[in-house]
Amino acid sequence: MVIIDGKKVSAEVKQQVAEETKKLIAQGVAPGLAVILVGDDPASRVYVNNKKKACELVGFKSVEYKLPAETTQEELLSLVQELNNRKDINGILCQLPLPKGLDENAVIEAISPLKDVDAFHKQNVGRIMIGDYDFLPCTPAGIMEMLKAYHISVDGKNCVVIGRSNIVGKPMAMLLLHQNGTVTICHSHTKNLKEIAKEADILVAAVGIPKFVTADMVKDGAVVIDVGMDRDEEGKLCGDVDFDNVKDKCSFITPVPGGVGPMTIATLMKNTLKAAKLQNNL
Ligand code: NAP
Repeated sequence: MVIIDGKKVSAEVKQQVAEETKKLIAQGVAPGLAVILVGDDPASRVYVNNKKKACELVGFKSVEYKLPAETTQEELLSLVQELNNRKDINGILCQLPLPKGLDENAVIEAISPLKDVDAFHKQNVGRIMIGDYDFLPCTPAGIMEMLKAYHISVDGKNCVVIGRSNIVGKPMAMLLLHQNGTVTICHSHTKNLKEIAKEADILVAAVGIPKFVTADMVKDGAVVIDVGMDRDEEGKLCGDVDFDNVKDKCSFITPVPGGVGPMTIATLMKNTLKAAKLQNNL
């Protein structure tokens, strides 16, 4: 069994981005990422800080907008418009979830598709569907990068994704399909989920329930990817997979923390670099 080292793969990706960034800066283009955080959700604050640190590491300019929870829809949309028009900002992301009363879809749609480094805009989502895209959503793309780094082929494999969110489950399934996996998506209405999961050569858990995937749901030799960022009974960070009991059945497994999370941020850096290049016709 191999524990996939997301930190290591992510460091390699960021290193590549840093090298390319140096070259871009030498050509007069300094990539810039704007991150909008509305309200004071502690988990979101941690994610935003990590994104800021990664920007510093790869040499991007990063601008952070911390807005109060009472921010109105109009105020938020007007900030997005301002950032859409700024030449020094190549990528814009609004940390989700937004506080109640704010319309997430409207904010996502307001971000210019050219600066949509999360790849949540419906124009980018549609392009992913047909396999002709500039940006891929950070978490699923980070997982694909990790599989590649460990030479795990998806071609012809039975892939099961648990979760069908727009940001993880659905695009994850699409990317596995693009790589010729045979993909099943499970969700809260799925019957016989345990039996379906047990057929998976590659099992991706994106449920949001601590230790949801138990050893009896995993085939011997499976590759298990844990997207979950949950809290256990003691409030400790854990994943959607019961790691201690599942790991010995797997050929490869991602830990939490240190698996998918760092890859998400590394992909955000890659997307921002690409956005800067595209916007400068490079
Ligand atoms: P989400 O929007 O809440 O979606 C959860 C999915 O799980 C839904 O499709 C839901 O089904 C399904 N589900 C819930 N209970 C289930 C059950 N009992 N049986 C089968 N399926 C069930 O969550 P998300 O945004 O995709 O995130 C999932 C997890 O990944 C969370 O822990 C989140 O914190 C984490 N995450 C991590 C990263 C990272 O970088 N590591 C990035 C994003 C998210 P229905 O559609 O039927 O409701």
